[in-house]
Amino acid sequence: PEAITVQELANRMAARGGEVVKALFRMGVMATLTQTIDADTAELVVQEFGHRVRRVSESDVELGLEGAADEDTDLQPRPPVVTIMGHVDHGKTSLLDALRKADVAAHEAGGITQHIGAYQVAVPDGGKVTFIDTPGHAAFTAMRSRGAQVTDMVVLVVAADDGVMPQTVEAINHARAANVPLIVAVNKIDKPGVNPDRVRQELLQHEIVVESLGGETQEIEVSATKKINLDKLLEAIALQAEILDLRANPARAAEGTVIESKLDRGRGPVATVLVQKGTLKQGDIVVAGAEWGRVRAMLDDKGRQLKEAPPSLPVEILGLSGVPSAGENFVAVEDEARAREISEFRQRKAREKSSAAAVAGRGTLTDMLA
Ligand code: GDP
Ligand code: MG
Repeated sequence: PEAITVQELANRMAARGGEVVKALFRMGVMATLTQTIDADTAELVVQEFGHRVRRVSESDVELGLEGAADEDTDLQPRPPVVTIMGHVDHGKTSLLDALRKADVAAHEAGGITQHIGAYQVAVPDGGKVTFIDTPGHAAFTAMRSRGAQVTDMVVLVVAADDGVMPQTVEAINHARAANVPLIVAVNKIDKPGVNPDRVRQELLQHEIVVESLGGETQEIEVSATKKINLDKLLEAIALQAEILDLRANPARAAEGTVIESKLDRGRGPVATVLVQKGTLKQGDIVVAGAEWGRVRAMLDDKGRQLKEAPPSLPVEILGLSGVPSAGENFVAVEDEARAREISEFRQRKAREKSSAAAVAGRGTLTDMLA
């Protein structure tokens, strides 16, 4: 079966289309950018470019920028990455704050918490959990529209006194679209006269069946402000993580997603990135979106300088040439030449995309005039 166009293959390798055409020519295959080549030929080209190949199916070839495919034996358990969602005023921010304070390692750091877009807490059983601190549904949508999948599970906050509301349903749909499991946190149970059973029934109408009703969805009654059952919530997250069997290879070039970024007056471009594969090291050369640079300094959510960041750790990095957008991919590469190449490739791709949009716009105008 035909597998992939030459252009798409080049895109996936972040290589120039012309180089791929040339490589094919050397192999005796004449193809233009828009022509498709079969999976076997694609595999040869990919190897020619020094990447490892993972055949996802007979007809598809998938690879990351730096040769992606990890052997099973290279994979180590990694902490879960959790996003908290729910209706406005149901207690997302309060819960994130309370969980941050529940961090058993916070004392060591002198309790200084620097506000970055994600943080990691150490839990009493020795494990860790990463929370994405952007409780906005918009941020979640923006990431997903860029093809970024950062979260392993969603904690759905539902206030016991208010029940399922429009943004609760929206969050359920987001989790479904992203194909990630939900844990329900029924919040504000400290309030007198609240009825968590009502919440369970309302969730049922949206096909969320909690465990106490015989379903699969874990549900914990909590109070963010009175700090009730936060440990149980963390346990539920740990259990869900165990079920998902989350793993990554720490011994490879780092790859991940930009969570947020800004231009800092004193420090220049600053990006918070989530390392998803490999280990990011101070001094690494990285490409983030179309920006690149050497990681001059790396800080965790407590403002501590780090030399290394393993999978699932969110870190702030300094040293980029510009400000990448949230949801964009970042990858550590072998040298500056490669970084420049990928950066130029991504810039070109972005330009092509916007001019394609412009052409499409002209088409419409022509049609209108005709
Ligand atoms: P968000 O909009 O979902 O981020 O909600 P917030 O965390 O800002 O909380 C909205 C309001 O609910 C605030 O006034 C909180 O103090 C209050 N609140 C949050 N959690 C609880 C809780 O567990 N119990 C009570 N009684 N109030 C809470
Ligand atoms: Mg909030």
